[in-house]
Amino acid sequence: MADIIKTILSKLPDAKLIDSAYFEGANIILYTHDKKFLVEGEPIIKQIVNEIKKRIELRAVPEILVNKEETEKIIKMLLPKEAGLDNIEFDEQRSIVVLNVKNPSMAIGENASILKEIKKQTCWTPQVKRSPAVRSRITEAIIHVLYASSEYRKKFLNKVGKAIYKGWTAEKKQEWIRVSFLGGARQVGRSCLLLQTPESKIIIDCGIDVAATNSEKFPYLNVPEFDIKDIDAVIISHAHLDHSGLVPYLFKLGYRGPVYMTAPTRDIAALLALDYIGVSYKQAAQPIFSVSDIKEMVKHTITLNYGEVTDIAPDVRLTFFNAGHALGSSLVHLNIGNGLHNVLYTGDFKYSKTRLFDPPRTKYARVETLIMESTYGGRNDVMPPRKQSEKALIENIARTIKRKGKVLIPVLGVGRSQEVMLIIDDAIKQGLLQNVPVYIDGMVWDVTTIHTAYPEFLGVNVRKQIIAGENPFLSETFKRVGSPTEREEVINSGPCIILATSGMLVGGASVEYFRELADNKKNMIIFVSYQGVNSLGRQVQEGLKEARFVVEGKEEKVPIKLEVVSIEGLSGHSDRNQLINFVNNLKPTPRRIIINHGEQSKSLDLASTLHKFFKIETTVPRNLEVVRLR
Ligand SMILES: [Zn+2]
Repeated sequence: MADIIKTILSKLPDAKLIDSAYFEGANIILYTHDKKFLVEGEPIIKQIVNEIKKRIELRAVPEILVNKEETEKIIKMLLPKEAGLDNIEFDEQRSIVVLNVKNPSMAIGENASILKEIKKQTCWTPQVKRSPAVRSRITEAIIHVLYASSEYRKKFLNKVGKAIYKGWTAEKKQEWIRVSFLGGARQVGRSCLLLQTPESKIIIDCGIDVAATNSEKFPYLNVPEFDIKDIDAVIISHAHLDHSGLVPYLFKLGYRGPVYMTAPTRDIAALLALDYIGVSYKQAAQPIFSVSDIKEMVKHTITLNYGEVTDIAPDVRLTFFNAGHALGSSLVHLNIGNGLHNVLYTGDFKYSKTRLFDPPRTKYARVETLIMESTYGGRNDVMPPRKQSEKALIENIARTIKRKGKVLIPVLGVGRSQEVMLIIDDAIKQGLLQNVPVYIDGMVWDVTTIHTAYPEFLGVNVRKQIIAGENPFLSETFKRVGSPTEREEVINSGPCIILATSGMLVGGASVEYFRELADNKKNMIIFVSYQGVNSLGRQVQEGLKEARFVVEGKEEKVPIKLEVVSIEGLSGHSDRNQLINFVNNLKPTPRRIIINHGEQSKSLDLASTLHKFFKIETTVPRNLEVVRLR
């Protein structure tokens, strides 16, 4: 028995009340056969939680659970009609009953009174989930995978907990902490960091540089300090291919440990990975991982909400905070060695309010090292105010529609697409834009439905709209395009707006639309996000006159006559001023700032400015360099 369980049992009035104890990751689950203790033991458990600062939950052993039929009856009787019960799911492995409802607060009741009553009458532990307005196919597929593997999950989570609490003591000593930069240093793309302490090895982000040529697409996983067998945990800041794209490959290499991310990041990362396989096949390349590797990633993912503090290794505690960059995107806070050293890794972040998100917070209990992105950290990367950028977007679209052209907006699929959708929908409602169809191509649509499923990860304004049932993503303006035939129809139709992936014109539907639309000067392409070095998008931005495509094995040359517009103020990244302001407002002031995720000149430029302004040590590591934090 793990030491931490022994400690907990010793604090109970009678250790025999507990039949068995399991870990669900860092959560400790105690199973009891004693109905009275199940209901009345809560205050004692709460007291122990306060003492040892770990999450503990009390559940019933399966033998004392009321049967499912009877339980359903009781739940339906106890839930008020306003809760809007959709369905009930039983997780027998864990003695949990999941209530999918339209209005969670009504189902929970004041001080969780309804949930307590359900537990008292049925012994099942109720969990309430909000049922989404639109079903996301990928989220449902993921839930299915999780249910189908619930027996495996129970064992897996218990194993994870055992590893976390191995040699558990309240005090920790720590000799050193190092971070290796395996990708995404002095460049944008293939982000990957390896955090090492005497007790743990943790991967933070594992991305693909989609714009790079073969040898530089992936992080350096072939270095001596990286051995997949030694990795204790993987943390993913957000679901963009350059941060999450290579995670399934870790499972192909044999990794079977936990991957920590938010629930929307899990769903979108799985979707992007599936799409990546499809794009690889279309480019006649062998995909680097398979669907079953993506499934393994899902099976081994532990989702966390913003602000939820969780132990992920004997000496590392993880908390995610909103990053304002894309749905579920997170600033990663790591408390290492029981408060000995604290790292804040920004991933990609937007330090400004947008239509989708609130800005990230700047107050933390402790931060000694800040690892910060610098995509727009260069001296000239000052973006126009949002209002101005939104106006420019709408005016350019209006001009194109007036001359009977089509507007193609290549988007990342996640984040910018939904931001642009909200701006366009608003402009049409306000009469600033003619009511033309806005075509949302396949994956963008799927990602949008995931947005509606997780309102709690959106900014306060959209969240309120969605909860009130006025879902802006479901506006009639938006038309879904799924099949090649439908794509054909869009290309042959009249003036319209098209949102399609990929954002940099490297594979995906956006390239197909571009090939068809490029030769007509009435049309317009609008770039709203970062264009990677070497990507077709970057070349078009820089004035490429003719594009070459390979269609069914034959090379095809297309003259580029359409109007090319770039609008930078809509980016999901902080511009130079926002990056500097974030450091300025960050409390406490970090002792060291490490700059990554930016083209070399921009990262260096930002680092020297931050050093001059704030007199803080700044470092701009190269790929493969190691920085000792302590
Ligand atoms: Zn990103």
